[in-house]
Amino acid sequence: MSCNSCVQDGGCEFRGFPSKCHCGLDVVILTSKTKQNPGRPFFRCPTLNDGHLFKWVEDCVYEEVVDAKPKISSIDNEINAAKCEVSVEIAELKCMINELKEDGTWSKREIKRIKLWLVCICLTVTAIVLLMLYTSKNQKLMLGY
Ligand SMILES: [Zn+2]
Repeated sequence: MSCNSCVQDGGCEFRGFPSKCHCGLDVVILTSKTKQNPGRPFFRCPTLNDGHLFKWVEDCVYEEVVDAKPKISSIDNEINAAKCEVSVEIAELKCMINELKEDGTWSKREIKRIKLWLVCICLTVTAIVLLMLYTSKNQKLMLGY
């Protein structure tokens, strides 16, 4: 869209909302009181001289929106890419959690097996000790004879 509401000095030097006129003064926002544009807001150089900045606010808004669209689209693409990365990472984390759960289950089984072996070994050692004590008592008895 052409900027036909800007200054008549050969082009629109301000894109979107202007802050200063080319003369260096801060622009002011005023409201039109003409019959053609009643209540229509515009930016204007405070000098109010011809050739200084004049721009309808709605044109500024339009330019801001047009300029923002590619940025929004780019941000949207970045968000979608980030969502994809996050969903891949979530899937990887779920796999890792499942593997850890399986490892945990395997470890519990191993611990049970080791406990059972320990009990067996303890019983065997106890049985051997008791057998040794029994045999040594019998030997003493035999020696005592
Ligand atoms: Zn000016």
